[in-house]
Amino acid sequence: MNVKSMVDSYRDELVSRLGKLVAVPSVEGEALPDAPFGAGPRDVLKAALEMMEKDGFKTVNLDNYIGYAEMGEGEQVIGVVGHLDVVPVVKEDWKTDPFTMVEKDGVLYGRGVSDDKGAVVASMIAMKVLRDMNVPMTRRIRLIMGTNEETGSQGLKYYVQHEGDVDYGFTPDGDFPAINGEKGMVGGVYRSKNTKLIDVEGGTAGNIVCSKVTARIAKNSYSPKKLGDYFNNANLNYTVTEGENDDTIIVIGKAAHASTPEMGKNAISYLFMALQNAGFQDPFVDFYCSHFGLNTDGDGLGCKCSDEYGALTLNNGVIHMKDGVVEGTIDIRFPVTMCSKQILKMIEEHAEDEGGAVEMHKGVEPLFFAPDSPLVTSLVSAYREVTGDNETQPMVIGGGTYAKGIRNTIAFGCAFPNQDYHIHDADEWVTVDELLKQAEIYVAGIQKLLEIQ
Ligand SMILES: [Zn+2]
Repeated sequence: MNVKSMVDSYRDELVSRLGKLVAVPSVEGEALPDAPFGAGPRDVLKAALEMMEKDGFKTVNLDNYIGYAEMGEGEQVIGVVGHLDVVPVVKEDWKTDPFTMVEKDGVLYGRGVSDDKGAVVASMIAMKVLRDMNVPMTRRIRLIMGTNEETGSQGLKYYVQHEGDVDYGFTPDGDFPAINGEKGMVGGVYRSKNTKLIDVEGGTAGNIVCSKVTARIAKNSYSPKKLGDYFNNANLNYTVTEGENDDTIIVIGKAAHASTPEMGKNAISYLFMALQNAGFQDPFVDFYCSHFGLNTDGDGLGCKCSDEYGALTLNNGVIHMKDGVVEGTIDIRFPVTMCSKQILKMIEEHAEDEGGAVEMHKGVEPLFFAPDSPLVTSLVSAYREVTGDNETQPMVIGGGTYAKGIRNTIAFGCAFPNQDYHIHDADEWVTVDELLKQAEIYVAGIQKLLEIQ
């Protein structure tokens, strides 16, 4: 029997396992004595480990932080690092109950079917098939199942503290054919009390492009016509509500992830650019426009840079005002061949003027494996052999995965090229055939990692 038919023989098993895991709402909850991330993450880990234990694999639960199932012999460990926690749902937005997996014409719907419970189940099937194949194991293979990826990767930290790093590994929580680089990150804030803004409030998270901002400013301190012209030219929705002494301006932008800020329209940036254009005289607004403006490349902060794998990006996600001080967030993703020190050095010289000040925090260094390194070539060739897709190249992204938290690991799958699985959104989906294909690719990938000399 070839690998494909061996994997396909587990079709029903795969679907029923995934249904059981989706049924556990493993969103982070209140910590309990035996559940550091809440009952849901604890229960889903228990369910997944039980499945693997029933199959006869050795399983270990690390105090409900994270657990693993293991096969093979030897000193070295190949890690497959997935996660079982999920992000919250907005039930009204779903066509079906997010925690009752539904299959319709070969498509599965439910929270986590793609990110990342589906990939974990596909990895379980891959381990079963490797065992059926009697592949000689000179290394151990560990399916490591985390329960706190979406909200901080604390579980993976716990794993590394107790079990160490892996010798080779992948996290099936990104894209095929592989993600060989993840940009570094530095975050910070800007602050100012030198402003005539009465109030400003906008954004939901530092790592999301701000899609709505509300500001209050004194009447007659700007030209409403010029303000309106600016927004209309930029094709943005806005409202101005006149009060007795001041006006309330609401600007609607377009959200996007902070790693791709150019895909969004930052409501904060448009607001301040429009106010400046409308003659609003304000040191802070001038500071914002010169240090950020509509740029998302760090130009105004003096840190614009790029390498052959991509450019620096900058996002201003959240802004608010308290006790007359306006404060907002800065999220920078920088090229994989640079280090955070270099970025902070560049910013230093532009960090302050009379209109405001920038304060940066310590960063997270980038992750990078050369495209011709054994880890990358092994996994990419496994993907290519199974799918026949020789076109899609390994990529560098601005986001972060588990790969940043454990050594010798890159993201490998689970998303196939040019698909939108509605990850973190309503009606998350994946096809059964794609999950089976994932399992087949993981079998091939693990075999290649076993063969590295
Ligand atoms: Zn994920």
